[in-house]
Amino acid sequence: MIEIRGLQKSYGQNQVLKGIDATVSKGEVVCIVGPSGSGKSTILRCINGLESYNGGSITIHGQKVDNQSPTIKAIRTEVAMVFQRFNLFPHRTVLENVTEGPIFVKGEDRATATARARELLASVGLADKENAHPPQLSGGQQQRVAIARALAMQPEAILFDEPTSALDPELVGDVLGVMRKLAEAGMTMVVVTHEMQFAREVADRVMFIDRGVIVEQGPAREVLNNPQNPRTQDFLRRVL
Ligand code: ADP
Ligand code: MG
Repeated sequence: MIEIRGLQKSYGQNQVLKGIDATVSKGEVVCIVGPSGSGKSTILRCINGLESYNGGSITIHGQKVDNQSPTIKAIRTEVAMVFQRFNLFPHRTVLENVTEGPIFVKGEDRATATARARELLASVGLADKENAHPPQLSGGQQQRVAIARALAMQPEAILFDEPTSALDPELVGDVLGVMRKLAEAGMTMVVVTHEMQFAREVADRVMFIDRGVIVEQGPAREVLNNPQNPRTQDFLRRVL
C-alpha cells in the first residue's frame, strides 16, 4: 500500500534521509524506532506530503506522493497523521474538531459527519466530552480526540509521530489502548514510538533507523528480542 524507494531528503547540506526503502502492506502495523534526530518524523512527513524530498519515490496505492502535485490534498485525506502535540483547534469544541475535516475538506453533510464523530468519540472513551474545548481536557484525552479526528476522515492508513511522548505517564496507557484496538480492527498504521512494549506486542514489523538509514528491520519480536546490528543493540540497551 505504501512503497518507499531510495528516499533521500536534505535540509541544506544536512542529508537527513540517505536512501530509505520500505513497504507497508494493508492492515500492517509498522513501528519505527531510533534515536532522536535520526529522521523518523521526516519519513512520516514525506509519506503524507507535508514535506518534499530530493530523491527516490513514495507511492501510495501506486500513486506518487509529491507535495507539489495537485493530488496531494487527496493523498492527505487517505493518510492521516497524529502528532506528538495533538494539534487540535483550541477554540473549537471536541465535536467541531472531529467534524471539521469531513465537512470542510471532504464536503460531507453536517448530520452525517456529526453522527460519525459521536460514534468515534464513544469508541475512544470520550462520549461525554463533545462540548468541551481541548484546553479543558487532559493530554491523554486530547490525543484521543486527535485520533478520533484522524479516523473521521476515513483514512486508509494513519501515521503516528510519538503519540504518547508528550503525555504524563499515567495517561499513556489509555492512548496506547485506543491504538491497540485500531490495530486489532485492521487499520494500517505506521507508528514512531519509544514504547517498546507496545511495539513488541502490537507491531507486525519494527524498523530501526539511525542517522537516516534503516539499520535493521524485521518481525517485532526478532528485532526487539534478538537485534543483530550493534547499533540496534546499543539503542535497545538504552531504552529498555
Ligand atoms: P527524529 O524524528 O528521528 O527525531 P527528525 O526527522 O525530526 O528526527 O529530524 C532529522 C534531522 O533533520 C535532524 O537533524 C533535524 O535537526 C533535521 N531537521 C528536521 N526538520 C528540519 C527542518 N525543518 N529544517 C532543518 N532541519 C530539520
Ligand atoms: Mg521526531
